[in-house]
Amino acid sequence: MKCIFCLLEKEESLEHVFPLAVGGALTTERVCRDCNCRLGDHVDCKRINHLFIVMRRNQLKLAGHSGRVPENDCDFNCALPPPQHAR
Ligand SMILES: [Zn+2]
Repeated sequence: MKCIFCLLEKEESLEHVFPLAVGGALTTERVCRDCNCRLGDHVDCKRINHLFIVMRRNQLKLAGHSGRVPENDCDFNCALPPPQHAR
C-alpha cells in the first residue's frame, strides 16, 4: 500500500479521518502506521482536546480510544444547544 502522506510503500493502518473521540465513522486504510501515529500526536490530539470539543464530547458521552468520556470542568455547558439528530 502506498501511503497518501509519505508516499512510501508500507503496511496500512486504520486511520480515522475524524478522530474516534468525535465519532470516527469515516476511515481509510491508505495511511501507514508511522504517519497515522504522527497525525494522532500532532493533529488529532489538538482537535479532541480543544475546550469546545471536550464540552461537546462530555455532553454527547463520546469516548475515545481509551473508552473514557472526558470530564467537563467548565461552567459553559448550559450555553450549548442540545444535540440535533439528522432525519
Ligand atoms: Zn506514511
